[in-house]
Amino acid sequence: MKTEAAIIGAGPAGLITAEVISSKGYTTTVFEEHRMVGVPDHCAGIISVEGFDRLGIPLDDRFYLNTIVGGRLYSANGTCLEIRDRKPRAHIIDRGKFDVYLADVAVDSGVDLRSTTRVKDIVFTKKGVVGVKTEDYDVRSDALINAEGPGGRLMARAGYSTGQEGIFNGFNVDLSGVDVEPDMVEVWFNDEASKGFFTWVAPLGGDRVRVGLASQIGDGHVALKKFIEKRFNVKVPPIRAGRVCTGGPVRRTAYPGMLLVGDVAGQVKPTTAGGVVIGGLCSILAGESASLFIEEGKQTSLDWYEKEWRRLYGHELSTMLTLRRLLNGMGDERINRMFRAFNEEGMGPRIASLIEDGDMDMQADIIRRAFMDPVLLGVMAKVVGRVLLGEVMSFF
Ligand SMILES: Cc1cc2nc3c(=O)[nH]c(=O)nc-3n(C[C@H](O)[C@H](O)[C@H](O)COP(=O)(O)OP(=O)(O)OC[C@H]3O[C@@H](n4cnc5c(N)ncnc54)[C@H](O)[C@@H]3O)c2cc1C
Repeated sequence: MKTEAAIIGAGPAGLITAEVISSKGYTTTVFEEHRMVGVPDHCAGIISVEGFDRLGIPLDDRFYLNTIVGGRLYSANGTCLEIRDRKPRAHIIDRGKFDVYLADVAVDSGVDLRSTTRVKDIVFTKKGVVGVKTEDYDVRSDALINAEGPGGRLMARAGYSTGQEGIFNGFNVDLSGVDVEPDMVEVWFNDEASKGFFTWVAPLGGDRVRVGLASQIGDGHVALKKFIEKRFNVKVPPIRAGRVCTGGPVRRTAYPGMLLVGDVAGQVKPTTAGGVVIGGLCSILAGESASLFIEEGKQTSLDWYEKEWRRLYGHELSTMLTLRRLLNGMGDERINRMFRAFNEEGMGPRIASLIEDGDMDMQADIIRRAFMDPVLLGVMAKVVGRVLLGEVMSFF
């Protein structure tokens, strides 16, 4: 078959890109290996309030679950730092239903969505990428958008490994019959359960919560069950597993005839592994860039995408990566001491006010301001150590 734009993957990145291209009148086909969009769903579904505005997606009852105003952060020894805002900070959504919503919007704009269609290979030629092979037929495309998700299996298969780092397993499960504060998330730092990341508890409304973790080491299933038994003492339903990306952007996202977008491009916040908003914003740019390429056939249109998303979000992602590396280098004991020191110095409100003005998606400014705040810096220098802190400061 022939299509002007071929898109691998019906996740948020693929669907948002597809809708942009199709709305401009180009034939657009999305190939999704699973039978149903949104299944399996392995996401915590925490999306910033401003993220919806930025993406131009209205908050819809079909996927909306709850709104949160802040969080309680716990270090490994149970020291708690509470950060509560006065305004809503994030919405919690049903990610499976959110993806179905995006698919409906894409199909309404004219996208041909082909589920149960696995792309086997990307077809590279001397001229560049000219299409894909599915398990049943070959596809020729003017522009290919690779939105296959974390890891870049298809890229590696074609000999173009993305070199993506910092990917590891993440787990989620929804529980009912528990008692939590309805508008606060919990974040637990503990190397035994979730090394290189954290464990989260997100209230879904009523007596329901979504609990999950990601970890660089060990068996996340077992660690999550242990956490739930200790924290909630309820029976654990089947756990969903996925892959989180914490290593920042990949080296290259524009190839002759092809763009990489979303998780496969590493367009994910290294601090929280949230990729829906940043990946979605890059998808809009990818859609614009691919449309121009289809129209004019000039590779410069695709190269524009690479330059533009890095110009807009590259610094954000590299600043978040610096903070991720600092946290990874700290370990439980230093985080315990830091939380204790923050509490002793009564720094909860100071941090809250920093966060109040800050942006959940574009975190560079708030991270920079935290490291410029003399009181915060003083506490961190005592706890984190000047060498580690110096590495971070040199970034600014
Ligand atoms: C445990 C966990 C919790 C998370 N929590 C959050 C959160 O709270 N907030 C947030 O913003 N982000 C979160 N994320 C990250 C978020 O899920 C991703 O950033 C987002 O899904 C990336 O979208 P994407 O379209 O790039 O990739 P994906 O959503 O992974 O979509 C890729 C699609 O491509 C399909 N595909 C892959 N290979 C092929 C092939 N060969 N042929 C056809 N189809 C193929 C897949 O089936 C899939 O549907 C979380 C991730 C995990 C694992």
